[in-house]
Amino acid sequence: MKRDTKEDPRTAAWISAALLRWFRTAARPMAWRETRDPYRIWVSEIMLQQTRVDTVAPYYERFLLKFPDIGSLARAPLDAVLKAWEGLGYYSRARNLHQAAGILVASHGAEVPRTVEALEALPGIGRSTAAAIAAIAFGADVPILDANARRVVARLFAIEGDPRSGRVERVLWERSANLVRKGKGRDTALAVMDLGAVVCLPRAPRCRKCPLRSRCSSFLRGLQDSIPPKRAKKVLPHHDVVAALFRRTDGALFLMRRPSEGLLGGMWAFPSGRRDPGESLEDALRRTLREKLRVPAVIQREVGAVRHAYSHYRITLHGFFCDATGCAMPAGEGTGWLPGDGEGTFALPRADRKLLEIMHREEER
Ligand code: SF4
Repeated sequence: MKRDTKEDPRTAAWISAALLRWFRTAARPMAWRETRDPYRIWVSEIMLQQTRVDTVAPYYERFLLKFPDIGSLARAPLDAVLKAWEGLGYYSRARNLHQAAGILVASHGAEVPRTVEALEALPGIGRSTAAAIAAIAFGADVPILDANARRVVARLFAIEGDPRSGRVERVLWERSANLVRKGKGRDTALAVMDLGAVVCLPRAPRCRKCPLRSRCSSFLRGLQDSIPPKRAKKVLPHHDVVAALFRRTDGALFLMRRPSEGLLGGMWAFPSGRRDPGESLEDALRRTLREKLRVPAVIQREVGAVRHAYSHYRITLHGFFCDATGCAMPAGEGTGWLPGDGEGTFALPRADRKLLEIMHREEER
């Protein structure tokens, strides 16, 4: 890799050594660090994308109990994989993991590939995740650039500008590579992640406690609060969404499977649709049911409303009990009556799950 000429190689060597010394006593204990099983490390790295360590920990354990190896993951129905992922969010990760397991069984002898290039060719694995898996599972001497590393490296070398722009990103990869000493790829990757998670925090970095402060360009120049530049807080649009809860006397619920691509892809959910501007909730629901199910359902009453935020918008999901007695509900691969508790069989989006919990609480009263 081409090195950035402006950097004194002795600085990177000093930083590397200090970072690794710090890591020897400060490494955070995590279940996935106690294994060298590439499959487990791969699962952990996918779960950790955009998700905190504390949130991931219980999911990781449960997921591996259900799917202890690549073969069992590849053989499992997608519904079971989504169910194990339920509540963790960003469900495309689960779909991609499942698809990638199938690819590994079909053409890689059910083994996780060792190189960044081969890892990156799998669904759901970008360059940084591929590098993290190669470094942590196989000890490859490769740089990483996850969110923590991006911030740490940008600050250490006072690299200004948007860290996601192509130009800045190229420099960050170069500087991150300069930190990797021969034979130290695994520890360097983990050390950078840990420093970013507990010392070089996004807001208010703890520079006074940082083992690298004497060589950190941002600290020395007082730039640690402005690198990386703060992104303008997005105001997420809000939508009212109406959902129909059809319940049979045996407790079964009528659900629809969402299209396999896109938000919540492959998950089951209550029939639902967005309210148009000026439309009442009830009118929106009648229209939704006509369009999606072609049934003239009777709206009985509102069960409750729950708020939920996705990455690009927020919703208030309004659930209504509906009755379709006497109507033939559509039956097919994407629709069906499923057991009311949902446990162990299918995954519901979090907002739908909350509506279901409201319904169960009502019934218990
Ligand atoms: Fe981050 Fe401060 Fe350490 Fe620099 S000195 S790496 S800004 S915590």
